[in-house]
Parts: sequence; C-alpha cells; structure tokens
Amino acid sequence: MKTAVYPGSFDPVTNGHMEIIRRAAALFDRVVVLVASNAAKAGFFTAQERMDLLKLCTGTLPNVTVDATEGLVAHYTIEIAADVIVKGLRAMTDFEFEFQQALVNRQLNPRAETIFLPASGTSMYLSSGMVKQVCALGGDIGAFVPGEALPYIIEKISAKK
Ligand code: ADP
Repeated sequence: MKTAVYPGSFDPVTNGHMEIIRRAAALFDRVVVLVASNAAKAGFFTAQERMDLLKLCTGTLPNVTVDATEGLVAHYTIEIAADVIVKGLRAMTDFEFEFQQALVNRQLNPRAETIFLPASGTSMYLSSGMVKQVCALGGDIGAFVPGEALPYIIEKISAKK
C-alpha cells in the first residue's frame, strides 16, 4: 500500500491542483492532500476554508483525503508513514524552489521520495494568486477553479472588496 502526500497552500484550490490530485490518485493507493502553512505566504482563505473546499472537490475520489498541518511537511510524512511526496511543476520557474524543498524533505525524512508531475499545457499558467487577482477585478474564473468551489471563492473574494 503506497501513500502519497500532496502538500501546498491551496489558497484556493484550482483546476491545476485538481489535475495533480487526480493523476496522483491513479498512481497511489492513498493520497493525502495536505494544506500546509507557509511562512512566506500570508493566506487569504483560512486553513479550514481551504480544507473544506478541497474536501468538496475531492468527494468523488475514494482514495483521497484532506488534512492540514501547521508543522513541517516532512514531519507529517513521518507521522503517517507516507512513501511519496507529490509536487506539481508548472514551468522551470517552479523547479528551483521545488528542488530545494525536495532536498530538505529528503534530509528530514529519507523514507519519503519526492516525485514531480508536470502540469498539462492547459494548467501551466494557473495559480491560486492569478485566480484571486482575476476574481477581485471582476473577471470570470469559471474555467480556472472546480465548479463545486466556484461560488464559495467568488463569495469570499467579493466580500473582501
Ligand atoms: P500556488 O499558490 O502557486 O498556486 P500551491 O502552493 O497551492 O501553489 O501549490 C501546491 C503544489 O501544486 C505545488 O507543487 C505547485 O507547484 C503545484 N501546482 C500549483 N498549481 C499548479 C498547476 N496549475 N499545475 C500543476 N501543478 C500546480
């Protein structure tokens, strides 16, 4: 039984994230989508909101669960005895940071291997930051986020304006 952890900010979930989740779910017996706190990124959605949206969007995937940690991803992978850390790569711009993270995570937990799944052409440009920006300026984000999450994302961003 192979368990993969897919960590990220998911602030909020996008179709790019969903694509990685679906592909990981086809590769591994169990996938835990992990909302991880990131000191470098102040969140817009609370950790609970991000988890709720992820749960809503992954409800039909039986081997996918959602969790959150305020600690290190590597420590979480030790706690649940995960085999793999899955990361998505959009462009070479993601690579340097992700590679560094992978090396640190291997140092902290040599048992968990990091694997990278390349984004598909249509997801290359998608980021949570872009979704928030387009939505805040009144643009249609329907093509960028899962339908289940769309009304909640629009509501929260509109309320902040
Ligand atoms: P961001 O805030 O930049 O959208 P996250 O921290 O939520 O990203 O990303 C979590 C993981 O998902 C990272 O490995 C990131 O590279 C990957 N990812 C994010 N967006 C996409 C996408 N559109 N396609 C593929 N992978 C992605």
